[in-house]
Amino acid sequence: MKFATAINCMDGRVQLPVINYIKKEYKKEFIDMITEPGPNKILSENKDSCIIESIQKRLDISINNHGSDLVAVVGHYDCAANTLGDEAQKKQIIIASKLVASWYSKIDVIGLWVDCNWTVEKIY
Ligand SMILES: [Zn+2]
Repeated sequence: MKFATAINCMDGRVQLPVINYIKKEYKKEFIDMITEPGPNKILSENKDSCIIESIQKRLDISINNHGSDLVAVVGHYDCAANTLGDEAQKKQIIIASKLVASWYSKIDVIGLWVDCNWTVEKIY
């Protein structure tokens, strides 16, 4: 499949690092971007059903219409919407990735952390 999907922060600093990482590591041509402020917080808390449904709706389009078979859940250093420390944020990424994985049976879900050098690391 040519498409992958990233549930990424809206922060402009993390768009290209995430796109470039997934393109390179997973040999994808296009990365659909679903952006929210601090999506690892939103998904791990799983409280705001309005935003969660909106994320699901966009994910469905990416998976069903573009044939994406890989979804990355992203968190990053210095997130304005998620002021927890790095380790707590990474735990949220893992919880959030498991939630997204529970929605689909044939999709690979990975969790990515973008650090203070804007380097991407796979943590789940
Ligand atoms: Zn952010």
